Amino acid sequence: MRARIPAKLETVLLCPVRDCHLALVREERRLFCARGHSFDVARSGYINLLQPQDRRSKQPGDTAAAVAGRRRLHDRGITAPLLRSIAELARPQATDVVLDAGCGDGFYLGSLAGGAGFDAHGVDISVAAIDAAARRYPECEWVVANADRFVPYAHQSFSLVLSITARMNPSEFRRVLRDDGRLLVAIPAPGDLMELRGKGRDRFARTVEAFAGAFTLVDRHRADTIADLDEAGVQDVLHSIYRPLRQRPAGAMRVTFSLDLLLFRPA
Ligand SMILES: [Zn+2]
Repeated sequence: MRARIPAKLETVLLCPVRDCHLALVREERRLFCARGHSFDVARSGYINLLQPQDRRSKQPGDTAAAVAGRRRLHDRGITAPLLRSIAELARPQATDVVLDAGCGDGFYLGSLAGGAGFDAHGVDISVAAIDAAARRYPECEWVVANADRFVPYAHQSFSLVLSITARMNPSEFRRVLRDDGRLLVAIPAPGDLMELRGKGRDRFARTVEAFAGAFTLVDRHRADTIADLDEAGVQDVLHSIYRPLRQRPAGAMRVTFSLDLLLFRPA
């Protein structure tokens, strides 16, 4: 008798140690590979796969202040129109297995998973961001790792990969994506936060070029929303971005949030 294929295949994490990359097996509060490299599960439930060479600074990635500022903006509903546009383009289904590479505080992945009920995995290099994600969305799996270097999952693990205003790793995104999968990339559009930092560059062509070869663009959409922020809201935006500002704003402001959404299929 042939073994039945389980309805939901388990997503396999790989050992992040350079030149190892064996499958990780999970115990209660620990994961380990056959070579004996082991990794802890934190109290809040996330898995820390960060390697010593990934810790260029003591606190790589977003700081706790940036994470908290961004979360307050999400919690006020300011980014809800962007979330809706992402959902409309990516169309996540309950049967999807989804990776959010550079997931930050987990707002987009956690919200989409809450709606569609898919199997969700988020990776970010910031411990502060992943800890916040794990506390808010315990039904998803959260991993601290440097996805610029290596996305710590087995080949073809995912049916949908998200990269939302994050660092992009086209070859690794392709490796972990199924041949019939899809990739949604969100990049800041030229008008994003223009009241605070002026009009930005159009990154669309450059992004399509970066994914050319491995991926084909199949759809695109510009998601915009304008928010009237009070002074605290403006401060939260300032906490969440790292670019030098043209002017230091005082008081309330009307601020544009704008993303270019690109939907790719494997070429
Ligand atoms: Zn290992």
